Parts: sequence; structure tokens; C-alpha cells
Amino acid sequence: MISRNHQIARTISVTVDTEEEGLWSGGYPVKNCTTNNLRGLARFQALCEKYGVPPTYLIDAPVLDDAQAIADLKRWHTGGRCEIGSHCHPWCNPPIITESVSNTESYICNLPEELQFEKLQWLTNKICDVFGRSPTSYRAGRYGFNESSVGPLVKLGYQLDTSVLPWFSYQDSMGPCFRHYDRTPTHVTDSMGSKKLLEIPITTGFTSKGAYGLRRRFHKLIDTPIGRSTKLAAVCSRIGLTRHVKLSPEGTTLGELVGLVESSLHDGVNHLVLMLHSTSLLPGFSPYAKDAAGVEALYNRLDGILECATKRFSCDGIMLSDIPKLLPVKETE
Ligand SMILES: [Zn+2]
Repeated sequence: MISRNHQIARTISVTVDTEEEGLWSGGYPVKNCTTNNLRGLARFQALCEKYGVPPTYLIDAPVLDDAQAIADLKRWHTGGRCEIGSHCHPWCNPPIITESVSNTESYICNLPEELQFEKLQWLTNKICDVFGRSPTSYRAGRYGFNESSVGPLVKLGYQLDTSVLPWFSYQDSMGPCFRHYDRTPTHVTDSMGSKKLLEIPITTGFTSKGAYGLRRRFHKLIDTPIGRSTKLAAVCSRIGLTRHVKLSPEGTTLGELVGLVESSLHDGVNHLVLMLHSTSLLPGFSPYAKDAAGVEALYNRLDGILECATKRFSCDGIMLSDIPKLLPVKETE
């Protein structure tokens, strides 16, 4: 039971992009996708349960063809031990209209709205058929979300999106820009301003607390052509002043993650959202866990950050779809 009498609830949600192998191979395979990495889910589920955190599995199209994974996910879902949301890799999500997918087309938000709707409708209906319930939480593959996705998602009954990484930008690879997004849940609208969807961003921030506004301005300053061409940016990042990361055991140290949790809570970011890829849970399927030692190191970071969030900072572990119920009225208007 979350106590709200004397203070605002602090929560942590653990989200998994649950998907096929292949994303890291450099291309966008449209068929013959393999899902051997999903054999790693059982160990992960057990770790989350150890800390009382029911994970949210955001699953994509090829996962729905993996009978063993579906059996596991259904068992956990039926028992209220996890949430099933959706995750769209547009290149391998029907309807497939081309077998040659460009970087631009790999971001679903760059596709025509009608095609976005058709792909999301296929995925949503299939998840509903398999799990007996429509998903209400969504994350785009490669974080490919912008206002053009709001209409299709609202039409399909989605309550929230969790694709945004505040301050990150994928514009260099034709993807979306999240530089102006806030770190707390907020409503996003479609281009007409008529449809609203709750955005619950993945937690991002500095790896130590204090002077957030000042450091943000400084970070912005050095993230310019001149800033990038000098050594200033690298030095500031190395000493931790402007090192800006996402809450994920992929590509970070435990110390950085603890610092991020501490600085986020300090700044009033009360609903932490951690993310990782299912492909990092077994050796050899992602750059973040290239071998067995890499997987064990990732589990150490995961274990450490869940312990820190749930015990040291008393965050309650909840599913993504539980967050809207906890938001103050001003945030849900
Ligand atoms: Zn993905």
C-alpha cells in the first residue's frame, strides 16, 4: 500500500523492450526474426519479484510467435505479476510494405499516420487476442515517438506512452528530438491539439544531485558545434558535472545509476522509469551484454539499483499503468 498521507508517493517502474534479436546487427530484418533471448526472462522476473517490483514487458510482433515466452508471460500476467504493454518495431510489424527499411523508416513516427495506425492496430489486436486484454502502455522501437503517433495511440485505447528520453535527441539519425521534454509525466497532444496522451518519460538526468537548472544551461551551452569541438564537453562529462544518462543498467555504472536516482528524487521526479532490452538478459544478443560476464555485470547493476530504489529511497515498485492513478490532479488535467 502506497502511503500518501505525509508525502508524495515515490515509485519505480521497470520496463523491458521485449523483442527479437537483430536490432543491433546494423539492419532492420523484416522476417525470420529469432527470439532466443527471451529464455532470459524467467531469471529477470525472479529478480524483480525479489524486490516486489512487477515489471512492464513492452512486447513486439515477433515475441507473439514465441510459444514458450508467451506461456511464461501469460502466467505472470494472469497472476498480476507483470503488465503487458506494446512495443512496435515498424520494420517487422505487419502490415509490412517494404523489405528494405531505411533509418528514417525505422522510426514509426516518420511513417504516415494511417500506416502507423495500421501497424499499431495489428499489434494491439494480437496482444489482446493472446492475453485477453488490450495493452494500455506503449513504447516505440528506437524511441520513435512524436505528436504524429498520439492520434493512432489514443484511437486504439492507449493510456500512456513511455518512449521519451528527456534531453536526448536522435535527429542525427533522422529520429525524434526530446530536448524540450520534461522529466515528469505530462500530457502530449496530436498536431491538432485535440487528442491527449499521457507521456511518462524514461528517467534521465545527471549522475549527481544539485544545481540542476544551472547544469542544464551549461550542458546546453557545451552541446553546440563549438562546445563539441572543444575538449570542454568531454572534461565536464568525465568529472561528472554534465554526465547525463538514462535509468538503465545498459552502458552505465551502478554508481551513476544511484546518483541518477538520488538526483531525480531530489528534484521531485517521483516516478522513476527504468528501461532495458530483453536482449541484454542473455549473452551475445546485445552490445550491453556481449558474454556471460557481461550479463552477470548487468545483473549486478540491476540488483544494486533495485535495492537502492526500493530500500534506501523507499520507492514502491509499480507497473506503468498504475502511475496515472497516483498523479496529482494538475498533472492529469
Ligand atoms: Zn525495440
